[in-house]
Amino acid sequence: MRSRFFFTRIVPVFALLIFFPVGMGIAAPGSLIVVIDPAHGGNDTGVVSDSFKEKEFNLSLGLLIREEARKVKGIQIVMTRTDDKSISTGEKVKLAANVRADCFIGLHANAGFGSKATGYEMYYPGFNSAENAAGDSRTILKDMVKNKSLNDSVLMSQYMQTALENVFPRKGRGLRDAPVPVLAKLNVPGLILEVGFAVNPDDRKVLTDKNRQRALAASIVRGIEEYAGKTK
Ligand SMILES: [Zn+2]
Repeated sequence: MRSRFFFTRIVPVFALLIFFPVGMGIAAPGSLIVVIDPAHGGNDTGVVSDSFKEKEFNLSLGLLIREEARKVKGIQIVMTRTDDKSISTGEKVKLAANVRADCFIGLHANAGFGSKATGYEMYYPGFNSAENAAGDSRTILKDMVKNKSLNDSVLMSQYMQTALENVFPRKGRGLRDAPVPVLAKLNVPGLILEVGFAVNPDDRKVLTDKNRQRALAASIVRGIEEYAGKTK
């Protein structure tokens, strides 16, 4: 007779190997499973400013986050994409469910606020409703507000903010009421990180510098670590 161990441990591991054979890895027990979503890809370039293409930046940063996360214990990164292709919101949501993600981080580069804005912005599910309890413009996010995910998302964004502030302080900060359909459909804590302002020449320099990208990735991993320490 096969042991319970076989069915609870070995079988699921093989099942995961079949579903996620490339680049996704298997989470060690007790790891925080983080889906990193380098937004855009394929025909969807995202923000383009001079030679800067947002889809390329997001992917490069995402891969560096995965690399940096390998240096620390307890974080397992699952990428929504590792090459230049577009992934639908439905596929991202399904992936997060399939890998039993603990949280989801979408990567973008910002284009808003004019060329003087610098730094980063963050959005999380229920963001607008939480900021303004009387507001009803974000009906798609309403149901998320009562969810525990919101509290965890807020917590994660706070750690992320502290970690990022050291390498990429923000100025000219504004809050944008951007539609974030992927977050609305997730039932795990999530946030959208808009790193830097592609239309700001100084930020663009940071965004295209590989060393600065790595520093950003390392601080994002630090934010995840802090969050993991509080929730795992
Ligand atoms: Zn974007």
